[in-house]
Amino acid sequence: MEKILKGKEVADALKQRLKQEMEEFHKKNITPNLTIVIVGDRPDSAAYIKGAVKRCSEIGIECNVRELPKDLGQDKFVDVIQKLNDDEKVNGIMIMRPLPPQISENVVKYEIYPAKDVDCFSPVNLSKVMSGEEGGFAPCTPSAVMEILHHYGIDPRGKKAVIIGRSMVVGRPLAMMLLKENATITVCHTKTLNLAEEAGRAEILIAAAGKAKMVKRNMVKEGAVVIDVGINFDENGRMCGDVDFDEISQVAGMITPVPGGVGAVTSTILAKHVIDACKIQKNL
Ligand code: NAD
Repeated sequence: MEKILKGKEVADALKQRLKQEMEEFHKKNITPNLTIVIVGDRPDSAAYIKGAVKRCSEIGIECNVRELPKDLGQDKFVDVIQKLNDDEKVNGIMIMRPLPPQISENVVKYEIYPAKDVDCFSPVNLSKVMSGEEGGFAPCTPSAVMEILHHYGIDPRGKKAVIIGRSMVVGRPLAMMLLKENATITVCHTKTLNLAEEAGRAEILIAAAGKAKMVKRNMVKEGAVVIDVGINFDENGRMCGDVDFDEISQVAGMITPVPGGVGAVTSTILAKHVIDACKIQKNL
């Protein structure tokens, strides 16, 4: 019997905990602030920002969006980040990626203060995730996957976890976060020789490839926990994940849907990181 792991349920539980934490802030007249920086406009970023703004306002976090022209030069972009770093009213900074080609991520990622870097752009935060060091901010999407596992009592310890995708925003950091919780990890990618065989060994299978419905029946072990990070659109223009949900929900022990799975949790994790950043900056 399949069990649907509902992102909304996870996000609502986390939201309740964050609202309680916010009561302490209200007593001290503190409103945490998140500033989202976007260069140019991209429809996928616009949807993400809309969700983040809504979630922040539900929790009581102020959220500003700085929209910068798409042809902004790298030096001017760095000026904006440095001003936000120095602005005491700003607790969290999120830079929407990818940045346009004239701005090098490998240059500007060193500019954001790690203490305000709520989505793990800074190499300081990334290295903490990679080395398993406490503190810092992990990227929101892999953190949302971990939150779902924790919420539903799925302990990665000793389990075979297979991740499809090795990007710096999802696959790689997630591998390290699962490793920290004592899973045995395999990371698959476009050059993996026998993907079905590798994926088929997973007790926890995480799909983060960005390929609509690529995970088919022959890739999933009976009873596996299947977490679908992908956000794609099928031939009818409907949002779907990397997992063929209709097929896989017949065999998986537990499975996240798309929409309504990982994506539903990500913006609440972002809100949590802003609150954590504010606490550290204000010594609360
Ligand atoms: P990416 O394109 O940067 O990386 C995709 C990875 O998947 C690569 O490492 C590639 O090697 C691997 N891959 C691609 N096709 C493959 C195949 N056929 N077989 C094996 N490996 C393959 O993408 P990303 O930024 O990591 O995002 C992955 C997916 O997650 C996308 O659909 C994206 O929209 C989604 N996403 C969701 C959230 C969320 O909040 N739910 C957040 C970020 C990204």
